[in-house]
Amino acid sequence: MRLFVAAELPQGMVEALSETLAELRECVHGRAVGTDQFHVTLAFLGEVPATRVDEVAAIVDAACAGRRPISATLGPLGSFGRDTSATLWEGLAGPQVGALAELADDLRGRLRDAGLPTDPKGFLAHVTLMRRADLPRAAREHGGLPMPTVAHGVIDTVTLFRSELCRDRAPVYTPLHEARLAEP
Ligand code: ATP
Ligand code: MG
Repeated sequence: MRLFVAAELPQGMVEALSETLAELRECVHGRAVGTDQFHVTLAFLGEVPATRVDEVAAIVDAACAGRRPISATLGPLGSFGRDTSATLWEGLAGPQVGALAELADDLRGRLRDAGLPTDPKGFLAHVTLMRRADLPRAAREHGGLPMPTVAHGVIDTVTLFRSELCRDRAPVYTPLHEARLAEP
């Protein structure tokens, strides 16, 4: 099954992202992410045999153990890919975002050590808001992108998700296991 591990966001950040996404939808043509699907990918595994899910869950627990909740602020918008079919995202910023990168690196290292697949690209703290976004058209018709809503929050939940891709529809993410970041 297709697996990835992601940090979930506190309600206040989800609300701010929903607001920003609603404004983006007014001026950018593209496929919006469902407001119940916002997440920060820490590690993308891709296809893993179902028999190894428990092992992946234990690795998520081990990587999260002893780590404190991480505070973050929603940052500026950014994009990946071709401008006419871009992945549009909002970054996370703040002095503790390094702790999120550390967690992602630790997690990926443990997955690799166990012979599990994980994406080789470096971690970038971001929340995808829209895919196949036409940025030049937004610039032409609306003079650019809106300013994102400011929000601050504390991340304390890391979830192992199964992702089922659906043709012409949003993917279905199913939480399989949850780990908590806790104050010692
Ligand atoms: P869709 O592929 O239909 O646009 P999606 O990207 O949300 O939907 P997945 O492809 O299963 O669904 O990806 C789940 C998460 O993992 C997303 O945050 C995605 O950005 C990330 N991801 C997917 N593929 C990779 C990859 N090759 N490397 C790094 N991260 C990835
Ligand atoms: Mg994808």
